[in-house]
Amino acid sequence: NRTILLASRPTGVPSVENFRFETREIPAPGQGQVLLKARYVSVDPYMRGRMNEGKSYIAPFEVGQPITGGMVAEVQESHLDRLPVGSLVVANLPWQEYQVADGRGLQLIPAGQAPASYYLGLLGMPGLTAYFGLLDICQPQAGETVVVSGAAGAVGIVVGQIAKIKGARVIGTAGSEDKVAYLKQLGFDEAINYKTTDIPAALAAAAPHGVDCYFDNVGGPITDAVYDLLNTGARIAICGQISMYNATEVPVGPRPEAKLLKTSSRLQGFTIGNYYSRWPEGVQQLTAWYEEGKLQFEETITEGFDQIPAAFLGLFRGENTGKAIVKLA
Ligand code: NDP
Repeated sequence: NRTILLASRPTGVPSVENFRFETREIPAPGQGQVLLKARYVSVDPYMRGRMNEGKSYIAPFEVGQPITGGMVAEVQESHLDRLPVGSLVVANLPWQEYQVADGRGLQLIPAGQAPASYYLGLLGMPGLTAYFGLLDICQPQAGETVVVSGAAGAVGIVVGQIAKIKGARVIGTAGSEDKVAYLKQLGFDEAINYKTTDIPAALAAAAPHGVDCYFDNVGGPITDAVYDLLNTGARIAICGQISMYNATEVPVGPRPEAKLLKTSSRLQGFTIGNYYSRWPEGVQQLTAWYEEGKLQFEETITEGFDQIPAAFLGLFRGENTGKAIVKLA
């Protein structure tokens, strides 16, 4: 029964050295408990922030303690009526092959068309981040231009497709030619490879009528370029800033405030925690769009418990298209 602990806090780009594997006994579930076997582990960019010391919107991982994150697990033994043996749950749990849990925080995955792992992606935290961040903060209208950065990732592909459902013109930025082709295939109007193009020129060409909504997953030079194209009354949702998660110094860049002022634009950061009370609404709508064939989803699946740290590190090299998932035997 392997578990993965935080071995040390990274400086800059993390490495496998920051993680440590340990083997433990398989625990026995007591009254009111279940034994869970991990089936799919979610690796997510926000976990990089939890590897650091210091106050944030979510507590840091502790050195010498298991890493915790989103997981789909199967009930192997049960002393809880609501969770029979064989049922699948999604929860925030330690990276461990087998573990005992009481029912709290275990969400039963309903039988349906969507694969269970989608509850870590389209129908889980990333999908709902896209849904609420785009619809609540950006509020795209038909005919408007929406830009999404990190467009080929778990959140980005859902943002772009919802913006299309709402009738917007959608531009995505991503880090490879394969990702650009994939975004076009998904229905994005324009897709830009930010690694090989002059970003300001490519964005200006893709958005001849300016930008009304910007869903920012990455920050940095892409975001600087979008701010030059804002239309009056633009709405910007700051979802993530992955280009800076491994920075060792405070990154500096152009100061956008005057551009926001001149365009009466609204800039709002958010975390998905703001929307926990509306979770069922989001899952219901995303499930309906998926079952109606209006939303597609994609996963990059790595196999094996020992590959979890590598899959996590791959997020910072753009190795995933769609949701990065680790599948366990
Ligand atoms: P992704 O599936 O998008 O994976 C990360 C992607 O980021 C990589 O595939 C890579 O794609 C891109 N990337 C990595 N480094 C850089 C860089 N230096 N500059 C630009 N792009 C880079 O992850 P998610 O969809 O899960 O998350 C997307 C963003 O949303 C993250 O910033 C995350 O922290 C944030 N987030 C925020 C939430 C909230 O509550 N506010 C909730 C969930 C996610 P590429 O090949 O294009 O470089």
